[in-house]
Amino acid sequence: MNIIRSIAEMQQFSKQCQRRGQSIGFVPTMGYLHVGHEQLMKRARSENDIVVTSIFVNPLQFGPNEDFDRYPRDEQRDIEIAKRNNVDVLFLPHQAEMYPDEQGITIEVRNRTDVLCGQRREGHFNGVVTVLTKLFHLTLPTNAYFGLKDAQQLAVVDLLVSTYNFPIKLVPVPTVREPDGLAMSSRNVYLTEKERMEAPFLYQALKHGQKLIIDGEKNPVNIVKEVIDFIDSNTHGKIDYVELLSYPDLLPIDKLEGQIILALAVHFQGARLIDNLILDQEGNISEQLK
Ligand code: AMP
Repeated sequence: MNIIRSIAEMQQFSKQCQRRGQSIGFVPTMGYLHVGHEQLMKRARSENDIVVTSIFVNPLQFGPNEDFDRYPRDEQRDIEIAKRNNVDVLFLPHQAEMYPDEQGITIEVRNRTDVLCGQRREGHFNGVVTVLTKLFHLTLPTNAYFGLKDAQQLAVVDLLVSTYNFPIKLVPVPTVREPDGLAMSSRNVYLTEKERMEAPFLYQALKHGQKLIIDGEKNPVNIVKEVIDFIDSNTHGKIDYVELLSYPDLLPIDKLEGQIILALAVHFQGARLIDNLILDQEGNISEQLK
């Protein structure tokens, strides 16, 4: 496996692959890799000639009171995991080279961000699309792999790619979970023992909502209320949001129609956790972008 830290070298490598007609599968991450990330790498490995994974904890997507400084990092361990998954290039850019000066041009996301995490994390998705625009230009992917765990992020990246005509196919990858249902996340290490015991109830709350839909409940307000009650009665977490919206447009709906997302964010003392289910109107798992 080739480790590249320089921007120029990364772009040169990608251009070479392009010239040779090789497809590039790209997996952008913030590191502290877990089985969820590995699933993205495996999928990329099976569908492309070359696999590039990046690790960059992007300061632009963290708010002033968020966890940028204490975000977990372990480069050596990440290198081993990437190697194990037959990644061809691990791209580890330096912050100073990614953001040398104050940005003279910024990208502002207008749609799909006034709900869910976008509403709570001001500027977060502007930071996400900024770094991805740079990473896409450096890695020139044929296919880019994103987890449905961050379904709003995928919806926003979809908007970025279509708005600015990136010649990239986005590949959504289903959320990988612990055996007890907790969605894998680098932030799970922050949970106290007691919080870790409660955290699987978030997935159970989503499943409870799904069951209501399968059993015929059509009113989003009732479903959201039941999911909130379920979380409140099973955990000590503080609910940030529970929302039911259309997906991937992320618009409010007053009846179940087309593809929908049931999504939640809950603050524990150790970490803020997010999770979601993407469903069709009958309540079946859908896990697609469109
Ligand atoms: P992160 O390092 O948290 O920025 O995540 C990098 C990529 O991995 C994103 O596309 C995430 O959606 C994806 N990802 C993170 N956790 C999971 C998971 N449990 N299952 C599937 N994909 C995931």
